[in-house]
Amino acid sequence: MRPLPSSAEVVIIGGGIIGVSIAYYLAKRGVGEVVLMERGAMGQGTTGKCAGGIRTQFSTEINIRFSLLSLKVFERFKEEFGVDPEFRPVGYLFLAGDDRQWAILEANAQLMKTMGLGVELVAPSEIRCRWPFLRVDDLVGGSYTGCDGYAGPYEVLQGFIKGARRLGVMLREGVEVTGIHMKKGRVHAVEVATGERVVTPVVVNAAGPYAARVAAMVGLELLVRPLRRQLFFTDVIDDLPPRFPMVIDLEQGWYMRREGKGLLLAGPQDEESSFNEKVDFEAQEWTAARSLHRVPILERARIMRGLAGLYDISPDHHAIIGAFPEIEGFICANGFSGHGFQHSPAVGMLVSELIADGRAKTMDICPLRPQRFREGDLIYEPLTAFRD
Ligand SMILES: Cc1cc2nc3c(=O)[nH]c(=O)nc-3n(C[C@H](O)[C@H](O)[C@H](O)COP(=O)(O)OP(=O)(O)OC[C@H]3O[C@@H](n4cnc5c(N)ncnc54)[C@H](O)[C@@H]3O)c2cc1C
Repeated sequence: MRPLPSSAEVVIIGGGIIGVSIAYYLAKRGVGEVVLMERGAMGQGTTGKCAGGIRTQFSTEINIRFSLLSLKVFERFKEEFGVDPEFRPVGYLFLAGDDRQWAILEANAQLMKTMGLGVELVAPSEIRCRWPFLRVDDLVGGSYTGCDGYAGPYEVLQGFIKGARRLGVMLREGVEVTGIHMKKGRVHAVEVATGERVVTPVVVNAAGPYAARVAAMVGLELLVRPLRRQLFFTDVIDDLPPRFPMVIDLEQGWYMRREGKGLLLAGPQDEESSFNEKVDFEAQEWTAARSLHRVPILERARIMRGLAGLYDISPDHHAIIGAFPEIEGFICANGFSGHGFQHSPAVGMLVSELIADGRAKTMDICPLRPQRFREGDLIYEPLTAFRD
């Protein structure tokens, strides 16, 4: 294997969508000698399991701003990166099954309107009329955004990789970081499994669900926990309507979207944290029952395969971005709680500003600082596709 350089300006740990986006934007800003270390293959972590959803519907201004910033990049992705991200703006439909969930959708719509964004609140009868394949008799209503949709995680990952390589980033697969060395309260070097060391003043933790383990290397407690989520894919379904939105049932944390000529169906999530990435039969049964309840025509569908991935959950379902005050040079970009793919362009941009300019200039990311949990300054996001 090629030796690593003896020093770098920035070392990024993790070759998922977050790590490669940060690598690209750092290089674009002219930060030299950026080395990204991925212990396996690029995208082998959560990014490779992602459903690709992209939405503006969030409950907090900061999440919506991350979406808007990222959406601009997805819209001209092919132009900038030479790779089609396969963005399909099919719309996002959240469904509320009780008054509490309906209140969340209403508050959310209000916030989005104040930010100049279009969102429709729809009654069950209207849902039935526009999307006749959905069962609505147990719903209070829904909220719909037509500009949202999904893109290809693999394609976006490849775009960032291609862009980062073109700008001189060293992307290394099969390199596991096993230790981070400190000197006088700041990051000094990264050590890898072969025993090699790379001296660097800046380390970015982009290790996804494994982020807490990487933070522990510098003695920090990072509140990111892994949570297994399973997804299932159906066989071809005849007569699927061409415009088929991403549908999310808030009550169950269940969702579905079109995948080729069939459907992608969200399976259950675990209640307990673990690094287990196995698919199980009970999950398939749960998925079939939930899906049939909401979409009765699925009686004719067959589940062909499943996969399991790990969410990287933070206590308030917002990303954790920045450095802890006690350690200089250790930058976290973690805890994306099910929306790291869609926010990856914004994260790359903002983290590159933080490193190159000392602060994020495009928007204020202080609310996402890592120490907010011990300060009791949380910003809760209820609009997620999982329950905890
Ligand atoms: C089932 C499922 C569906 C999802 N759907 C969506 C969606 O629709 N929309 C959305 O926006 N998000 C979605 N997400 C979330 C999204 O996939 C993640 O937020 C995003 O992929 C996180 O990217 P990442 O780069 O931080 O993590 P990862 O992709 O996990 O990358 C981290 C990398 O770090 C590497 N690593 C870890 N430790 C080390 C080490 N010590 N040394 C070197 N390398 C190391 C790992 O091998 C891994 O490749 C979904 C997640 C799941 C599980």
